[in-house]
Amino acid sequence: MDTSAIRIENPYIAGLTLEVGFDNANPREAFEVQVRGDGTCVVHQFIEPEAAEGYAFHLHLALENAGREPVTVPLQIHWAEREYDFCYDYMYVGYDSGRDWKMLSTRSEKAITQLQLVLPRGRHLLCCHPKFDTGDYLAMLEQYGGAPGFKRVDVAKTPEGRPVACLRLGNPKGRKTVITTRAHGYETAGAYCLAGWLKYISKHATKRTSPLDALDLYVFPMVNPDAVAAGHCCTAPSGVNFGRELASRADEDSGAEGLTEFIHGLKPAFYVDMHNNTGPHLVDAFRSTDERILEAFAKKAPDRSRDQKAWAFQKVQFPEGYMLTECERRYGTLPLLTEFPWYTRLPGDMMAHGSQFLRALLPLLAEWRYV
Ligand SMILES: [Zn+2]
Repeated sequence: MDTSAIRIENPYIAGLTLEVGFDNANPREAFEVQVRGDGTCVVHQFIEPEAAEGYAFHLHLALENAGREPVTVPLQIHWAEREYDFCYDYMYVGYDSGRDWKMLSTRSEKAITQLQLVLPRGRHLLCCHPKFDTGDYLAMLEQYGGAPGFKRVDVAKTPEGRPVACLRLGNPKGRKTVITTRAHGYETAGAYCLAGWLKYISKHATKRTSPLDALDLYVFPMVNPDAVAAGHCCTAPSGVNFGRELASRADEDSGAEGLTEFIHGLKPAFYVDMHNNTGPHLVDAFRSTDERILEAFAKKAPDRSRDQKAWAFQKVQFPEGYMLTECERRYGTLPLLTEFPWYTRLPGDMMAHGSQFLRALLPLLAEWRYV
C-alpha cells in the first residue's frame, strides 16, 4: 500500500474504508471526504488553485471492502466547478486496484453526482478515466528502457525529483520525431495509446524497416509526473501548464526546463502532442497547422465508429506558449496534436486505438517530403 494513503473508515457500512491522498489520488485530504449517518460517502473533488477556471476532470479514490459479501455504497461526489455536468455522465471503476476496468453511466446535476456503487470484496478504484499513475509510468520505462531496439533517455528531473524520460527507438540518422503525452495530469488517454503501440512496435523495434528506418523517435509517456502524483487536473505543482506554457514559462519548473532544452536540441522534424478530449465524447480530434498532413492522414485514419467516434481533422493555429508553435517557428517542425476521449473505451480499446493510430500516422511521417 502507498504510505501516503489516508484511510477513512465508514462506520455505517461494515468493512468499508475509503482511501485518498496516495499517488495520483484525488481528493488529497481526509477532510475532503465525509461520511453521513446513512452511510453516504460525500466526496469533494480537489482542484489545484492554478488550474484554468472550470477545468476539473480528475477523480481517483480507492474503496476497500474487507467483508466477504459485496456491499452497496451510496456516494455523493461534489465536483470542483459548475460548468461541466455533461462531462461527468460516465465514470470508471477499476476493480482489484485497477486490474479490471468497467465504465459506469453516471449523472451530474449542478456539479453533484449521486451514485450507488456495488462493491465486491477487495480494493477497487473510482476514477473519471482509467488511471495511469507515476508507478505505471516508471514500470513502462523499466519494461521498454532495456528492451532490444529501445534506449531510455532521461532529460530532466522535476522539482519533486521525478524523472522526465523518453524511450528512443528507430534510426538514429532518421528524422527526429517527438511524441509527448500527459502535459495535463488527468489526461490518461495518451499513455494507454502509447502502451498499445509500444507493445506492438517492441516486436519490430530491432528491424530496420519502414517506418522505423526513416524516423528517430523520442517517445515521452509522461512529461508532467509531478502533476500526476499530486492528483492535479491540469498544472504542475510549480504552477506551469505544460500544454499552454511549456515554451513561455519553462524556467519556472526544472522538468519543463530540461524537457524544452532537450527538444530544442533535437530541432525535431515532427512533434506529436497527445491529449484527452473530455467534452465531445464522440470525436477523435487530429489537429495541425498544415492542411496537407490533415488530408493525407484523413485517407489513412482507422475507422473508429465502433468506439462511437468520428475523426475531426482540424486546421488550427496553435497559440503562443505551446512548444509546438515554438518548434514550428524555429525549426519548421510539423506540429500535430491529438485529443482522444475515453467514453465507451476500456483500456484495451484505447491501447488498440493508439496502436492503430500510430501505425497509420508514422508511415506518413516517414515519407513526408514537405519538411
Ligand atoms: Zn490536455
